[in-house]
Amino acid sequence: MRFHKPLIICVLALACACRKPATVSSPDGFIGVAFALSEAGEPSYTVTVDGASFLEKSALGLDADNVNLSGGFKIKKISRSTADVTWTQPWGENKVNRDRHNAMTVSLEGENGVRMDIEFRVFDDGLGFRYCVSASADTLILRGERTQFCFAGDGESWSIPGDFNSYEHLYRRMPLSDVKDANTPITVKFSESLYASVHEAAIYDYPEMVIKHLNGTAFEASLAPLTRKADTPCASLGGSFASPWRTIQITRSAVGLVNSPLILNLNEPCKIDDVSWIRPMKYIGVWWSMHLGIESWGGDKYHGATTEAALHYIDFASENNIQGVLFEGWNDAWRGSEALPDFDFTKAAPDFDIEKVLSYAREKGIAFISHNETGGNFTRFEGQISDDMDWLEANGIHALKTGYAGSGLYGGIPRHSQTGVRHFQKVVEKAAEKHIMIDAHETIKASGIRRTWPNFMTRECGRGMEYNGWSAGNPPSHHEILPYTRLLGGPMDYTPGVFDVEYRSIAGKPQVRDWGRPGTECRVNTTLCKQIANWVVLYSPLQMACDLLENYNEHPAFQFFRDFDADCDASEALQGEVGEWIAVVRRCGNRYFYGATTDESAREITQPLDFLKEGVTYDAVIYADAMDASWESNPYAYTITRQTVSKDDTLTFHLATSGGVAVSFIPAP
Ligand code: CA
Repeated sequence: MRFHKPLIICVLALACACRKPATVSSPDGFIGVAFALSEAGEPSYTVTVDGASFLEKSALGLDADNVNLSGGFKIKKISRSTADVTWTQPWGENKVNRDRHNAMTVSLEGENGVRMDIEFRVFDDGLGFRYCVSASADTLILRGERTQFCFAGDGESWSIPGDFNSYEHLYRRMPLSDVKDANTPITVKFSESLYASVHEAAIYDYPEMVIKHLNGTAFEASLAPLTRKADTPCASLGGSFASPWRTIQITRSAVGLVNSPLILNLNEPCKIDDVSWIRPMKYIGVWWSMHLGIESWGGDKYHGATTEAALHYIDFASENNIQGVLFEGWNDAWRGSEALPDFDFTKAAPDFDIEKVLSYAREKGIAFISHNETGGNFTRFEGQISDDMDWLEANGIHALKTGYAGSGLYGGIPRHSQTGVRHFQKVVEKAAEKHIMIDAHETIKASGIRRTWPNFMTRECGRGMEYNGWSAGNPPSHHEILPYTRLLGGPMDYTPGVFDVEYRSIAGKPQVRDWGRPGTECRVNTTLCKQIANWVVLYSPLQMACDLLENYNEHPAFQFFRDFDADCDASEALQGEVGEWIAVVRRCGNRYFYGATTDESAREITQPLDFLKEGVTYDAVIYADAMDASWESNPYAYTITRQTVSKDDTLTFHLATSGGVAVSFIPAP
């Protein structure tokens, strides 16, 4: 009877597991997670930080038709593992990342033989958990989630509203307990030494999540429905599926959140064999003029993307160390309205000689960035994807910006629904096949899938520069919130870099469209130097200098953009506070680029240069706000100074109201 003893131990362990919570801690012991099952078999979890309660009892589970995924469970097995690996990616804030975590999987058996594994991974900078379901049904209709985040205390929060059709909202700063609903990442400051952000990682074939207020500081996950009709389910899934990871980054400092690779660590390794064609780059393009209202997407004499303009842009790029040029409106489809265009993305506008432009770009070694504005008509785009991508590949075009302007997707489908998630995944996989990098606007949220699909370079998903062209614009604090919220999910194609922040150069030019009215109430709400610094702060592997070329011509400060390298190796957010300011440095080979920006408050920054390499002397070129600069009344006043520095030095900077400083550190010859 030799096998009886282990059997008894196993049964006892199970009996104990049902009564006592199953726990797992971060490798450094900072964060602890405990799983429990109620007498009715309902799963829940709690989280502690530094031994104190952080999340009180919070429900787990899903709601589905005809199968109970929120109760009636028994624990079948609890397994644990640890990991400590480093992995690399072809591009990113950091090309080398460390994944150190402890994992616990609770395998549950429910009614009618349904299985649900709840996987927890606990890192030193937060945790993630997900549901892996296996039911006998072929199709499972998901109605929602039971997942709760019941915070033990209140804090100051930053978030945009929970909107299943758009992320282009201004951020709200308010006590966590006042938030009715929020999109993620939602970031909370609980104390001077405790920050957290709720988000999700690895979203595939599943609707996106917002969090909704329950009571006090307790929230519940809410999923985008499949359609806008009442009582629509959230997803149609196979009998076996895995949900995205629900994530909570938890750090002792605000910049700790920015430096956390947790979202990437919860994504799968790269699925593209040859990544040699995937390259970060700086770009310029025919774009800002349309938002300023002085040129059009096509169909009239104001068309911006003409052959003549294209050749001029290519010349400028080639003379100024810029690698790519975007041509919005080259393919005669988009008219800047929601009216459905009869588009063919491979057909050029009559005044755009595509053969000539492509040949000139090739001759000058400049990447042609194509543009497909779908107006949200994703089914029509899907019908063209094969032809379109074949055409791009055949013409040596490796970068494509996609747009889905409008409220939600065509046919009343919420943009952030399972259907939307499926569409954007289809586009990125098809693009990978054809060696095309994607820059998607009006797309789904960034959840770290760039690790798995590194051709998904960047995306908008937030209020970018365009809002300054035709609205009251983005306030000074906007750029001090984005790095701590939106950018925790991944890169943003914000398109910073407007030098003419008051649109002086277009004064008197005719307004060619009927929306927006630049020149009077519209402007960019920063100083010139903050625009430069935002190239460092607002990370994007495709980084655009978006202003009209005439504003860059001969401008001394454009040298920073010439020197800047979009392909960084390592990054660190050095100092800052959510909604107030941030200082970031990025290393590119043996050079460093530093950027610091502030909200409406002027600020003096003391910056130790201990990030520089030991034993190397650097020529630092400092682009700083002048002492009398201010975003409202004197935005253009700046200085460029040069200094020889090393690792042991400390620099001090003055940042004007909504100002910034940018520094390039190049090894001295
Ligand atoms: Ca947009």
